[in-house]
Amino acid sequence: MAKAPQVITCKAAVCWGVGGPVKIEEVEVEPPRPSEIRVKMLCASICRTDILCINGFPTQGLYPRVLGHEGVGVVESLGEEVKDLQVGDTVIPTTLGECGECGSCESGRTNFCQKYPIGATGLMPDGTSRFTVREGNKRTPAYQFLSCATWCEYMVVDANYAVKIDAGSIPPPQASIISCAFTSGYGATWKAAPVTVGSSVAVFGLGPVGLSAVQGARMHGAAKIIGVDKNERRRKIASELGVTHFINSEGLEKPVSEVVKELTDGKGVDACFECSGYAPFMNQAMKAVVQVSTRTIMLLQKSCCCKVIIYFNSYVHFLIVKKRKRVEMAFTCMI
Ligand SMILES: [Zn+2]
Ligand SMILES: [Zn+2]
Repeated sequence: MAKAPQVITCKAAVCWGVGGPVKIEEVEVEPPRPSEIRVKMLCASICRTDILCINGFPTQGLYPRVLGHEGVGVVESLGEEVKDLQVGDTVIPTTLGECGECGSCESGRTNFCQKYPIGATGLMPDGTSRFTVREGNKRTPAYQFLSCATWCEYMVVDANYAVKIDAGSIPPPQASIISCAFTSGYGATWKAAPVTVGSSVAVFGLGPVGLSAVQGARMHGAAKIIGVDKNERRRKIASELGVTHFINSEGLEKPVSEVVKELTDGKGVDACFECSGYAPFMNQAMKAVVQVSTRTIMLLQKSCCCKVIIYFNSYVHFLIVKKRKRVEMAFTCMI
């Protein structure tokens, strides 16, 4: 008979309050309860939302908190109610679950599952924590980022907030950004403002989200993909991933929207994706589109406006729509 999972002591990045500090601490991770899995993390990524969390959003002042929401790992142990995952499966934890049955899941228009929503409390769905920070003899319960916490060696997540992937289809470093950065950018070009064959697109900000939007635009057949960034070093990677025209926004003598329009015969692009969170770019992105039946999608907001964050999140995870099944997408586009 298999030995029951025990408490694991390991390391985690813990934020102790608004503004930090964030320190590597020794934590105890409890065994998974019946509907949960414990995951040995392989890779985790840093997202701007983690920085927001350090600065107090959306944590409601609840600390200490183990950070991180992007990552990939292997199932180390699981509860007896978990039937569709096994020890050794490679999984991506997500901040949003999917029941497949509620109105949202069935709508095809949103993946804001009503049964397994974003875990804004920083606790497991049953209202308890699996993390305890150890400081000598002192033990302090810790919150997790949202529905999961990936900046740690081991973590527990409800099985409804984990997606199994084919470990051979993508290396862990690339798989690590699937659940947030990649899905935000790619999902926007697929679902929010569907890019059509032969259309023109502009992407403002060529970080991980923006480059994912570029790849989404390319894979959906955009004929012209204009990339805007102030960082000249991004020109090369952007062109390799699909940007046909790169605009360095530093030192322009005219508004960048005008430069975009000059590249589209004065009309503007069919769809624009703002991925920088830089406020002046938001206005420019809206001015850079054709003024008839077009969409400008804002994906990031550095100053943390709730409305925009909700908007942003509504496009996250669109790719991970069928839980437990292999994620059906062209992983190779990221490599
Ligand atoms: Zn993120
Ligand atoms: Zn649902």
